[in-house]
Amino acid sequence: MKKILIVEDEERIASLIEINLAAEGYRCICAFDGNAAADLIEKEKFDLILLDIMLPKINGYELLEYIKPLGVPVIFLTAKNKVDDRIKGLKLGADDYISKPFQIGELLARVEAVLRRCGNAERVLSLGDVEVEMKSRVVYKAGAPVELTVKEFDLLVEFMQNKNVALYRDRLYEKVWGEVYMGDTRTLDSHIQRLRKKLGWDNYIKTVFRVGYRLEDGE
Ligand code: CA
Repeated sequence: MKKILIVEDEERIASLIEINLAAEGYRCICAFDGNAAADLIEKEKFDLILLDIMLPKINGYELLEYIKPLGVPVIFLTAKNKVDDRIKGLKLGADDYISKPFQIGELLARVEAVLRRCGNAERVLSLGDVEVEMKSRVVYKAGAPVELTVKEFDLLVEFMQNKNVALYRDRLYEKVWGEVYMGDTRTLDSHIQRLRKKLGWDNYIKTVFRVGYRLEDGE
């Protein structure tokens, strides 16, 4: 059973998350301030930490710096209008973020995705004749290495970890570039174009009208 630490000082939100995750079979423990969270992290092993930013005593950023070396994945909980928080969290190495207020379905999907991704961290991701070695960051197409830039590689990994899921432009951009998405589609679109070309993936990376992109595995 996966064990999740919920660090959130608004008890109403913490218990809402706990009830829903517990219903899905996760074991949850709540911490309502930064100190309590730090104590728990020190004592116990968690598979995932949901981390609010504005917390009494020790804030989420400080906690993240403490958590990162432990290799436990982190999803930040941020207020919807706090774009800077979101970006800062991703830059500091959070695995994903959820904006409050959120829908339970979204929460569950993100928790599942991050756990799945982290469980596969050492593995080779593959689709068709393309293979991505996560550790060495080397990509092969039909056995031959493909030269990708850092951003192209990061984009590719986002796609590979979310096969058949429509990825929104803003989220994709924020995750890969670690910057606020200002609605300029050119940077992202040109990277996608190059990725398609280098991998021969015109038919795999689909444009999703008014949303962004989706990698289809063709099955
Ligand atoms: Ca808070």
